[in-house]
Amino acid sequence: MNVHDSEKIAAKLIEQGYNLTDDINFADLILFNTCSIRQKAEQKFYSELGKVKLIKRKKPQLKIAVAGCIAQQEGRAFKKKRPFVDIILGTQNIDQLDTLLNGGIAIDQKDDVNALELTAERQDKVKAFVNIMFGCNNYCSYCVVPYTRGRERSRSSQSILNEIQELGTAGYKEITLLGQNVNSYKSDCSFPKLLSLIHQIEGIERIRFVTSHPKDLDDDLIDTMSQLQKVCNHIHLPLQSGSNAIIKAMNRIYTYEQFKEKTIKLRKTIPEIAITSDIIAGFPGETDSDHNQTITALKEIQFDGIYAFKYSKRPKTKAATMDGHIDEEIKVNRLKEILEVQELTTGNINKKLEGNIFNVMVEGRSETNKNRWCGRTTSNKIVNFDPLPSLIPFAGMFIDIKIIQGFRHSLDGEIVKP
Ligand code: SF4
Repeated sequence: MNVHDSEKIAAKLIEQGYNLTDDINFADLILFNTCSIRQKAEQKFYSELGKVKLIKRKKPQLKIAVAGCIAQQEGRAFKKKRPFVDIILGTQNIDQLDTLLNGGIAIDQKDDVNALELTAERQDKVKAFVNIMFGCNNYCSYCVVPYTRGRERSRSSQSILNEIQELGTAGYKEITLLGQNVNSYKSDCSFPKLLSLIHQIEGIERIRFVTSHPKDLDDDLIDTMSQLQKVCNHIHLPLQSGSNAIIKAMNRIYTYEQFKEKTIKLRKTIPEIAITSDIIAGFPGETDSDHNQTITALKEIQFDGIYAFKYSKRPKTKAATMDGHIDEEIKVNRLKEILEVQELTTGNINKKLEGNIFNVMVEGRSETNKNRWCGRTTSNKIVNFDPLPSLIPFAGMFIDIKIIQGFRHSLDGEIVKP
């Protein structure tokens, strides 16, 4: 969500005559698009802001802007504490950036989704993010998002389809539908219906979406995913904990058993699906037994991958005021165990893929070796491979790759000669 917001911010600045630069010393304006989902992201931002403050001392005409969730959360108090910051821009105020370029604050929450439907300066030429909804109504007890991004608002299907149609015409092959909780999309049609409308758009070959709330994942969506060939074989379904007591304290509105049932149904209906998840280690009140239930859940469900983090206290959230906050050392140890168990599972799952042939969409040169190429399977696995003298890949090309070796974080393959 933040990456795509940055693309919208960039488009707004380019409209006003700015160019993007990678060199901070050339910048006339430095804009931070901040994230406050975890304390660590906030700390990193404040440390970078401190460095930029020093640059401004030597170059007083430099404008400093802070956008995103920290700007929204801290509001006017942020500017009071840090007068050297010129612009404060809330999560729903990107459309006002052009009126603030000489300094100012815009942090009002907006109900009108039209104000959020902005042109984006996309860096990638084959993959694109598309917002389908904004905000969240779920109030998971640890999460700051409902406070920083407001209540749920869905875009009209026509507006979404128009944007994707333009992307298809411009040569984009893959779109990722964005929302804090995409499967609670509510507009003039349901989320499964929206997927089937997007499926008809020419040029778009792959449709992904993030993130899904387990409570809103129903049979209709699972069946639609299995029937629509362009919808990728991957779902990110955050479990957060394997203990029902902790899931309840998190206000997640499902039980572990219900969650597991959904993963079974997903795998039965879409046998090649990859399921990934999020886990929080050391939520307030989490006992050793709760933690062990998470470990059991990871072993039972066998996710393809997880994002796991230590619980981090967020302002305004219910969990921040709960009793039983866990010692840092215990959180570190629990996280370590969670990651170790998952690494083993991911390694085993990827090993089993050796010998299989997958259709891969090429994304570009490999990050670790520029002589090689990389792409993704529909199940979102990264595949690295060598080009052939007779077949030089390019971004957006679809190519069959035989998996030679499965690692924990990627697969190694070779092009299947056409
Ligand atoms: S559903 Fe996701 S975004 Fe919404 S409150 Fe829960 S964790 Fe936060």
